[in-house]
Amino acid sequence: MLSGRMGRRKFLKNMSLAFGGSLAGQFLGSLPLTHAEKKPALEYRTLGKTGLKVTTVSMGVMNCSDPAVLLRAFDLGINFYDTADCYMRGRNEEMVGQTFKGKRDKILIQTKVHALDEKQMRASVERSLRRLQTDYIDVLVWHSHSSPEEVSDTHLFEFMSKMKKEGKVRFTGFSTHRNMASLLKETAKSNLHDVALVSYNFTHSKDLKEAVASAARSGLGIVAMKTQAGGYKKAKMEGLSPHQAALRYVLMDQNVSCAVPGVTTIEQIEECAAVMGTSLSKRNVNELKQYQSFLRGRICTMCGGCAGECPYGVWRSDLLRAVMYYDGYENDALFRESLQLITSQDIHRCSECPSCSVICRRGLNIKAQIKMVQEFVVQS
Ligand code: SF4
Ligand code: SF4
Repeated sequence: MLSGRMGRRKFLKNMSLAFGGSLAGQFLGSLPLTHAEKKPALEYRTLGKTGLKVTTVSMGVMNCSDPAVLLRAFDLGINFYDTADCYMRGRNEEMVGQTFKGKRDKILIQTKVHALDEKQMRASVERSLRRLQTDYIDVLVWHSHSSPEEVSDTHLFEFMSKMKKEGKVRFTGFSTHRNMASLLKETAKSNLHDVALVSYNFTHSKDLKEAVASAARSGLGIVAMKTQAGGYKKAKMEGLSPHQAALRYVLMDQNVSCAVPGVTTIEQIEECAAVMGTSLSKRNVNELKQYQSFLRGRICTMCGGCAGECPYGVWRSDLLRAVMYYDGYENDALFRESLQLITSQDIHRCSECPSCSVICRRGLNIKAQIKMVQEFVVQS
């Protein structure tokens, strides 16, 4: 607990130790936040060498299926929207295209492509353009890079260069959830990418913070995702609302161009937008500490730390994702959709295992998480 008598210098030092980063010199005190009845004070940063001016609070559209939320974000002045070819099997891009019809020149769109052969990647980009009802994509990123070799793959670069020359894509980059620090360091050296979409929040290491700084210095535009470290859990947290604090923490890092929190309701986008132009208070730091202990052992962040540990290949990304949607985001629609990719044999295999050999680096009880999914499958 922070003491009211604690000096400013001591407080900054403690906060820096608690969250593994140096925030000294950026701490400006807290501003009152309300749900934005009126428009927030917009704050822009430059997205690295792209030169694009993006609102620091932008929007991750992935979990959203309500066009009214997008329209509210637009009304609030948010100008950068992150979607992907595969979110909701293409319906997410369709919603973005339909909602922003006639507003294309006022927004920036980031979407994604999987690293496949050229024919498949071209078909994917063409589908995205059709769904988004546009003839260009502002930022196209590859999904989920996790090794330094992937970020330097010349075959992928040739394809991206063609897309740029053909005017279909303005800037390119990659997204990453695993080995992020080493990927960013590699990218900083190669200088081949324009943008990196990085899972980045108050639970991450100092090493990642330094890698983000070095990548930003090299000109890479850093877009932060998973900023809330596990979605919205107000009900379970007995009134505590740490989401603004989590978002503010990320944006205090000036090496981050913008954050794309995944929101699903008007209330959430207003709550996020109100964070622009503000800074962390002592209360926020307390909230983050409580939130951090609340999350410990509860949320799979898809960090990849346990990859390959299940001898039967059951604990893999589709099951991890289902668990994240179910218990992390509490998003039933996404959870049900993700279950379609999981075979019942996989889930039953776990029942035959006397003890799970997968060890979560964040203390998650994997067997219990699987049991939760099993129970849901049986009930449905
Ligand atoms: S319980 Fe067994 S099958 Fe299931 S994830 Fe763990 S090790 Fe794999
Ligand atoms: S289960 Fe744990 S170690 Fe495995 S990906 Fe999720 S958070 Fe990382």
